[in-house]
Order: sequence, then C-alpha cells, then structure tokens
Amino acid sequence: MRYGSFDDSRREYRVDTPRTPMPWINYLGDENFFSLISNTAGGYSFYRDARLRRLTRYRYNDVPADGNGRYLYVKDGDSVWNPGWKPVRTRLDRYCCRHGMGYTVFEAERAGLFCELTVLVPPGEDCEVQRVVLENRSGSAKDLSVWGTVEFCLWNAWDDQTNFQRNLSTGECSFEAREDRAVIYHLTEYRERRNHYAWFAGIGPVAGFESDRDALLGPDGSWERPRAVFEDAASGSVADGWSPVGAHRFRFRLEPGQKREIRLVLGYSENPQDRKWSEDGTPNLEKARAALDRVASPEFVDASLKKLETKWDDFLGRFRVESSCPELNRTVNIWNPRQCAVVYHFARSASLFESGIGRGIGFRDTCQDLLGFVHMMPEKARARLIAVASIQLPDGGAYHQFQPLTGRGNADVGGNFNDDPAWLILGAAAYIKETGDWSLLDESVPFDNDPSDAAPFFEHLTRAFRKAAGNRGPHGLPLIGRADWNDCLNLNCFSMNPDESFQTTVCNDGHTAESVFIAGLLLWVAPDLERMADHVGHAEFVGEIRETAREIREALESHGWDGQWYRRAYDSAGRVVGGAECDEGAIYLEPQGMCAMAGVGKDKGWPRIALRSVIQHMETPFGIVLLDPPYSRYRPELGEVSSYPPGYKENGGIFCHSNPWPIIAATMEGMTEDAWRWYRAISPGFLEERSDTHRVEPYVYSQMIAGKGARRHGEAKNSWLTGTAAWAYVAVSQWILGVRPDWEGLIVDPRLPADLPSVRISRVWRGARYEISVERDPSLAAPEVTVDGERLEGCVVPAARPGDVVRIHARAP
Ligand code: BGC
Repeated sequence: MRYGSFDDSRREYRVDTPRTPMPWINYLGDENFFSLISNTAGGYSFYRDARLRRLTRYRYNDVPADGNGRYLYVKDGDSVWNPGWKPVRTRLDRYCCRHGMGYTVFEAERAGLFCELTVLVPPGEDCEVQRVVLENRSGSAKDLSVWGTVEFCLWNAWDDQTNFQRNLSTGECSFEAREDRAVIYHLTEYRERRNHYAWFAGIGPVAGFESDRDALLGPDGSWERPRAVFEDAASGSVADGWSPVGAHRFRFRLEPGQKREIRLVLGYSENPQDRKWSEDGTPNLEKARAALDRVASPEFVDASLKKLETKWDDFLGRFRVESSCPELNRTVNIWNPRQCAVVYHFARSASLFESGIGRGIGFRDTCQDLLGFVHMMPEKARARLIAVASIQLPDGGAYHQFQPLTGRGNADVGGNFNDDPAWLILGAAAYIKETGDWSLLDESVPFDNDPSDAAPFFEHLTRAFRKAAGNRGPHGLPLIGRADWNDCLNLNCFSMNPDESFQTTVCNDGHTAESVFIAGLLLWVAPDLERMADHVGHAEFVGEIRETAREIREALESHGWDGQWYRRAYDSAGRVVGGAECDEGAIYLEPQGMCAMAGVGKDKGWPRIALRSVIQHMETPFGIVLLDPPYSRYRPELGEVSSYPPGYKENGGIFCHSNPWPIIAATMEGMTEDAWRWYRAISPGFLEERSDTHRVEPYVYSQMIAGKGARRHGEAKNSWLTGTAAWAYVAVSQWILGVRPDWEGLIVDPRLPADLPSVRISRVWRGARYEISVERDPSLAAPEVTVDGERLEGCVVPAARPGDVVRIHARAP
C-alpha cells in the first residue's frame, strides 16, 4: 500500500495522509542551521551541533510518537486545527505534505479555509522560515486566530533531558514588538557563559504572545490542547525559570475569497564576547534584528526557494540517468544524491532514530559517506577529509568519532576499531579521482588536533595503512581490535555487564582475533594507495604496499576461504567466525562483498562461488541478510552481534549498508541480473508499494530492514542516516551504470540488466560534461566505447577540458 507518491518534475515526495506508519521526515538546511520536519510538522532545529546547540526541544520515543515540532494552530470559530494534522488531530477536509529539496509544504483545508504552510531554511541565513498563506474559500467571512509555536530547548540537548534540578530554573526570555512584527528572544544562560541566543519572530498582524509554557498550554495542558489557543487568550507571559516557548498569535478577518500571508521565523544569533552587551547592559540583540530585516520581506521566501532550486539543479545535474525505469531514474537522479547530501551534514547524529545527543561524526562513516557526495560538494569533501584526518592519532589509529562543533576526537568512545584508518585511504582516493586535486596529499594536517604534530596528508595515509595492515595475528590477517566495519562483532570484549556499552567497554588488547573483512578492505584500497604513493614519489612505500598486499592476499587464500564462501574472522581463541562449522553465524555478508570486490581467489573462481552462496543462504525479497543463521543466544566471545533478537540489526538483519558490496562484486563477475535484483530489493524508488511492511519513508534508504529470522521481516528502521546511501549510489552509478571517475579519465563500463536495454547518462566531471548513450549487447565480452565518433581502446575516456561536452556511445555486455 502507498501513502503518497513521487512528483519527479517537482523533485518532491507527496505524502497524502498524516497517518503514515511512522513519521516521514525531511531535512532543511545545508550550512549551519538545520531542521528536521516530519509530515505532521514534528521535529526540531539546531545550530551546527545537534547536541550542544539544540534550539527546540524534542521528546524521543514519545507516545504518541513525534509530538513536538513547530506547530501552527488555526482557530476558525470553535474549531482548532493544524495544517500538519498534529498535534490537535482535528479531521481535515484535505491534507498533503510535500517534502522537497530543502523545503516542506503542507496544504490543508477545513470548512472552506485553505492553508498553505511552507517551511524552509533559507540559504545563507541561520534561521527557519515558515510562510503561512490562508485563504477563505467559503462563502462567509471568517474571524481567525492563528498561532505559531515552538518549544525552546535549553541548548545542551543532553542536559535538557536530564538535569532538571538545575534547568527548570534557568529559562529566560524577553519580548520586543513593532507594528509589523514581534520577537521572542530565548536568552537562557546568555547572562552567564553563552553568547548565543535564539529568537522566534512573528511577521504580520501579531496580537499577543506567550513565552512561558505553562501559560500557553495551561496547568495540565498539552500541545494537543493548548489552553491559550483554545480559549483564544494571549496573556503576554514572559518565561522566568521553567520552560520557555515561543508563541505568537495573529488575528484577522478573511472575507470570502480573501487571502492573507503571515510568516514566522526561528533564528539563531551569536555575538563576539566583546559585543555581548548593549550599552544599557541588556543583551545585544542587533544581529537578530538585522537578520529579521533581511528575511522579513514578502519576496524573501520565494527568492530563497529559487536559490534552493538552483542549488539542487546544480547538485543533481552532475549525474543523471534517463531510462525506461522511472523507479531507477528518480532514485539515481533525485533521492539518492539528496540523501547523500543530507548524510554529509547529519552523519549519524540527528534523525528520528538518532537522537542527536549520542553520536558525533564517525571516522569510518564519513570517509564512506564521502563517496556519495564528493561529486556534488568537492570542497566540503576536502574539508571533511582534513577534519577527519585531524582526529587521527599519531600511531595511525583514530578516534572512532568526533563532534562537529569542536572538531575533536570523542574521547568517550575512544578508538581501536582497526578498520577505521583504512577508510581514509578510500575517501582520499575518491576525492582525487573526482577532482584531480592532488594538492590534498601535501596539505599539512595535525594528528589528534595538535598543531605541533602536523604532517602532510599523505603521511596520514601512510600511517593509516601501516596501522591497519601492520598489526596481524596468527593467520597473518589483520587484528580486529574492538571491532571492524561491523561495530557489533566484538571479539575482544567479553561483556557480561548489562550496564556497559559494547562500544566503550574494556577491550582486551587481543593479539589473536583477526578480521577477514579488514584484509579484503585493505586489498580493495591498496591499488589506490599505491597510485597516490607513486604520485608523491614514495617509491619505497609503493614496494611496501605491494609486499604487504601480497602477504595479506596469501593469508586470505590460506585462511580466509571456507570452501563455499569467505570466512568472516577468527575469534580471540583462534576459532573460525563465519564458517560452515559454525552452528549459527555460518556465513557473513561483508567478506563476500569486499573479498569478491578485491578479487580474492579469482583464479579459482571464489568470488562467483561466494556470490552464489549469498543467493543460496542470504538473499530475501527485501535484501540480503548480514549473516545466517542468526544467533539465537548471547555469545560473549562475539559480543553485541549476538545481543539482538534474530533478524535485527547486525544479527541477521538486512543491514543495507553492506548490500552494495555484493552488488558491485556481481557486476564485476558478470552476474548483472543478480546485481540488479539486489539493488532493487533495497532501493527507495522500488519500495513504495510495500510501505505497509516497510513503514519508513519510501524515498530514502534505511540502515536496516528486519531479516528473515525476524517476525517483522521486511520492516525497516533507521531511515536516512546510513552508509547505504553512498554505497548504493556508488554501486548503481559506477558499477551498474558503470560511469566511474578514475585518476586520469572517466571509466565507461556499464553492465545493464535485461530490464534496461538502453540508457542515457549525463555526467559532469572536472568541469566537462559527458553525454553517454548506452546500448545493451549481451553478445559482447567487454564494452565497446566510442568517443565523439571514434572507437576507444578500452573504456577509460580521457579527461576533457572544463566546459567541453564529450559525446560517448557505449555498447555494454
Ligand atoms: C555504524 C557504522 C557501522 C555499522 C555496522 C552503523 O550504525 O554507524 O559505523 O559500520 O553500524 O555495524
């Protein structure tokens, strides 16, 4: 069953009911100010860091779900309603929510009163703007009261949830009004150590306000029944201690056919320490006033929407496919790159599954996410690579995460995830292949954010490789440390204390537990590192990389193959993990993908055999499970992976992030139809019809879909913020459609399934545009590529000059 539909021409997903199985959200903002907004206007806003600079409050895992947001209340006679339906949940005659590229629009109507609410974070400004247009479509005049409301968070979202003995006494607000606008300033803690404040402005005929939550909601009130709104009484409360809110009331009459626009702006401003106070000793609010002067004009919203449109034209214009499959087109051209851009900003920090108070930005996560956004935002990719290399430790290892606001490694989580450093190599190579900007390798970057210990970026890669590849165990395979890509395969922890986190608990300094996956990953990135070492003239290191890779390959061939698939690991007692001898967890997906991609045992046909085992043991209609059979009991020697009920998360869930690896490997092995089937199983464009089972947004990838061992097989969780976005984008654009940036040229090597007899692709790369038409010809063994009418030797199209248009025709096997 569907709950909405794609509108490709507007690049929107149109949700037709507020009663989706879960809140379906959108993200606003792509600079400093960010908001999450659900299809019922729930969600929250923050400035740069979802934990430390939270502007509005959100109660997680609430009942009913998603009960805090920026809520607009319309009081028309006795009836009070919201254009997003929640929180009052009055029946609407018409409802739709259009999630677009950086904006969301609600269209609602009740009793002849139509409301269009547009919410966006305007480019270049630190605020969220709501434009409300009300139109009287009935035959009689209407006297309306309209309230715009937000609930402020006391900045540090963690403290806000926990430290009530203090923070229920810290709230402070002030109010200011002119004829055409009114502003509530949220000033909690401004008087002591903060020099930032938030503000909520009403633009239009403001007639009263509340900034104290009790006054707005009433003594036993709720957002569902705010007393001031229902009684249409604004008392002008100024919050003092307790909980500050922003609520503006507008009152006006609409004659039949008449329309009225009002606007609400939630903003953030920050003062330098020496300009914190005005001359009269009150907080210096000039920045907010100046921002309001810029954003308050009636034309501003349309101009900002136009800017967003231009920005997304540019981002999405860099890779486009036209095929006979609309699901593929909209996934590749709109929603997958959109998700990749969102993941750049939000990492794994803020979604309706990620509270924004937990994780910062993950080292390995962001290095992989980069694969999906580098072509749209190369400068941001470069900056992110430098930021992430700056939390690398001098020994080549890394903090597992860092906080975006401080840029510092997160000491609570620490390090010892032995795969982390290897991903830096992957990210750097992707950046240079995209941009040709080799200067990255010479950039001086500190270790552990210590400016006195800086070295060229390339040195970071050298130490990364030596760290991940240099520490090997009894079988010559890399030691796993706390965990590798699979955070939950904790082979050195043995946790028996339910009160400790698997991610941070003591990790023995084990010298036995080894990872087949890290070995495969190192072989996958080694040729790239070799190429970079060669470029910077480190001939000796080139030799070292080759020799190390040879040893690792040998170790994999001797100890990584189980007969029908690649093994996963060796545990701390030297026992096989992921082998036929294991009663549970006999086969894991990660090594089938990564080792097959790296061609381990290719001369013996292993990649193909492994992929066939994936089909036999792991494939489901909803994607490929991470392991099989799932663990039915807790195994301390394996850790968190065995802590989930069978079929969830890493314990045999369809952990979507790992699905693109076998997809890529399958294209390499000529198993194109399998690759295409696996791609469709998890990709958003193809999921709409099964929204009842899938439940989360059908326009983005999810981290996890419950596996075949679960009772709720097919149900997805953790939508939006997942490495799946980047890897699925790589799998489809670079391997199925086959257009891959390389060091000196653009590889054109498509592998089209029978469903796609021909496609057209347009790719902007290093400033030139490549217009590629592809025809499928299964009789061929290798692609035949013609560039501007001339047949090419192989399939690497040499880089053209910026501004050039290159016409390519490819016949694909
Ligand atoms: C983490 C990734 C990890 C994956 C698999 C995700 O939640 O962000 O870093 O690779 O889980 O365990």
